[in-house]
Amino acid sequence: MQPGLHIDYEAIAANWRLLADRVKPARCAGVVKDNAYGLGLRRVAEALAAAGCNDFFVAHLHEGVQLRTLLPKARIFLLNGVTSDKVAEDMVTARLMAILNHEDDLAYWRALGQRLNRKLPCWLHVDTGMNRLGWNAQTLDPELEGVEVQGLMSHLACSDEAQHPLNELQLARFTQLRDRFPAMEASFANSGGIFLGPDYHFNLVRPGIALYGGHPLNTGPNPMQPVVSLYAPVLQVREVPAGQSVGYGASFITARPSRLATLDAGYAQGLLRTLSNKGVVAFNGVRAPIVGRVSMDLTVVDVTDVPYAVQPGQAAELIGPTLTLEEQAQAAGTISYEILTRINWPRA
Ligand SMILES: *Cc1c(COP(=O)(O)O)cnc(C)c1O
Repeated sequence: MQPGLHIDYEAIAANWRLLADRVKPARCAGVVKDNAYGLGLRRVAEALAAAGCNDFFVAHLHEGVQLRTLLPKARIFLLNGVTSDKVAEDMVTARLMAILNHEDDLAYWRALGQRLNRKLPCWLHVDTGMNRLGWNAQTLDPELEGVEVQGLMSHLACSDEAQHPLNELQLARFTQLRDRFPAMEASFANSGGIFLGPDYHFNLVRPGIALYGGHPLNTGPNPMQPVVSLYAPVLQVREVPAGQSVGYGASFITARPSRLATLDAGYAQGLLRTLSNKGVVAFNGVRAPIVGRVSMDLTVVDVTDVPYAVQPGQAAELIGPTLTLEEQAQAAGTISYEILTRINWPRA
């Protein structure tokens, strides 16, 4: 593999098709917030739209505005709410679907509707147990004055843990509310929720991480195709005797005469500093440990046990066929979502 970041947009489309087939007759959206989990909003949105996706979720206004210029006909939901009169106006201009998260969002959306002399369409985010965003599912009456509520959504807190009791509790709360308003559309499941079964699918599912090759559950084989691979070039290789320190803080001391390779990548590129003395890279399937601290643009790995001479210019695998996204996330003490959104690499 050539050094660099490789993103397989075909695999993103294939992952969307797999999920879309699985949830039929429900429809499958694409969650493309935060630059499509760091993989590039434009190319991801184009790949998903070409595969048949027509519903998209973003977190921030500017993402929705950008996406509208790319996809004139798609339905684009803004997750983080209607937070001011100005946001409301810009949302109408970009034809974004409002998701009202609480009373203030409603006030801005209704006021703009009054100025425009029409009831503006919106969805309501109801909280079923996450206590993060949304109206209380048990006390809400979704037939709100002055706006046209078209749909209800909620979000699962523990969907990657199929056995977690909160999943069923949240489902019961959401189903109870939804059954009172059967004419409204409903959306509940993220990537993990899709795999909890058809009861969780309602009308529209909202996968993010699974589209990008992340494992939607925390057990078993990953049903999704890998999307991202990442290779950093070797800058230098050096032989050092035993008893030498490596990197800032001298946090690693060689225990034997060692061959060390310095990689052209560090935490500024998303090779998280928590991988210091913990992470591994791979050369053609052979693992080589990160030794010493990850620096901003450089990382040292011990290639003593690689059974051939690693050379400058050669590519060290950070994510790929040997090292999965999940393995790297675990080594860094985080989740695949954070690894993806922190990759800061020129596109190969
Ligand atoms: C980010 C997000 C999703 C997508 O979640 P994944 O776990 O990446 O599938 C779905 N719904 C909401 C409300 C989100 O914030």
